[in-house]
Amino acid sequence: MTIPALELNDGTTIPQLGYGVFQVPPAETERAVSEALEIGYRHIDTAAIYGNEEGVGAAIAASGIARDELYITTKLWNDRHDGDEPRAAIGESLEKLGLEQVDLYLVHWPTPAKDNYVHAFSKLIELREAGLTRSIGVSNFLVEHLDRVVSETGVAPVVNQIELHPAYQQRDVVAWAAEHGIKTEAWGPLGQGKYDLFGTPAVAEAAAAHGVTPAQAVLRWHLQKGIIVFPKSVRAERLRENIDVFGFELTDAEIAAIDALDPLDGSGRVGTHPNEFN
Ligand code: NAD
Repeated sequence: MTIPALELNDGTTIPQLGYGVFQVPPAETERAVSEALEIGYRHIDTAAIYGNEEGVGAAIAASGIARDELYITTKLWNDRHDGDEPRAAIGESLEKLGLEQVDLYLVHWPTPAKDNYVHAFSKLIELREAGLTRSIGVSNFLVEHLDRVVSETGVAPVVNQIELHPAYQQRDVVAWAAEHGIKTEAWGPLGQGKYDLFGTPAVAEAAAAHGVTPAQAVLRWHLQKGIIVFPKSVRAERLRENIDVFGFELTDAEIAAIDALDPLDGSGRVGTHPNEFN
């Protein structure tokens, strides 16, 4: 299984598809991540707030896979932006993960009411310089937040990880990021199962045309747009299905039909609005 690697603006590369472990219960995480690694996943997306970094670490240690073949992301939680807290927080994450360095460390949410995300990101620059993370990025940032971080620190995050699926495409954020060399990662790439994405004619017809499942068609839509994805499942058959998306290609018309699923009024969002999460 060859998963394409995308080059980031700091010269590193990231596997375009991985496994995200949001809401994977801590007690189940080692088994689920071990299964994912066995199936061929090499990119794992976790966060301090998920409470399952230890399980991810245990699976990494048990796998015997060389560290440089793995790509591990974790995230700084919202209550640790101030002062030198980011350094303490990454130390705790590294210990739980059993690693000396993560590949990517993200500011999880901008929490704009606290007005401390530029400070948090400037601390991440120091963490990268100290070798605690190879790359640094942000999550749930809107254009106004990206713009401030880039203009006030002079450093562009390598990625912005945002809610993104056919009914909620955040085209303004994705376009601004692309213009500034920032790759977009999609969270909730399958809409978290919160609306009938798989039953829409655009998705169902594309899936039928290629003899794949609707989930595979949606993941392919992301990949062909250059988006990084890490769908979550704890079921081995779905883990296998979600990585088996490199043997077919959607046509331009199929992509355009899925593009048209966003009503553009924000109603397709399934998570919290970044300005309301503080
Ligand atoms: P997702 O869109 O990946 O949806 C996961 C759900 O989709 C699963 O619970 C399962 O019910 C279903 N599913 C998965 N594979 C399927 C398949 N092949 N067929 C049918 N149904 C399937 O949503 P997510 O887990 O929220 O997002 C993926 C990852 O993004 C997370 O695990 C996490 O790593 C990250 N994330 C980040 C943030 C953030 O604020 N940065 C927020 C949420 C999630």
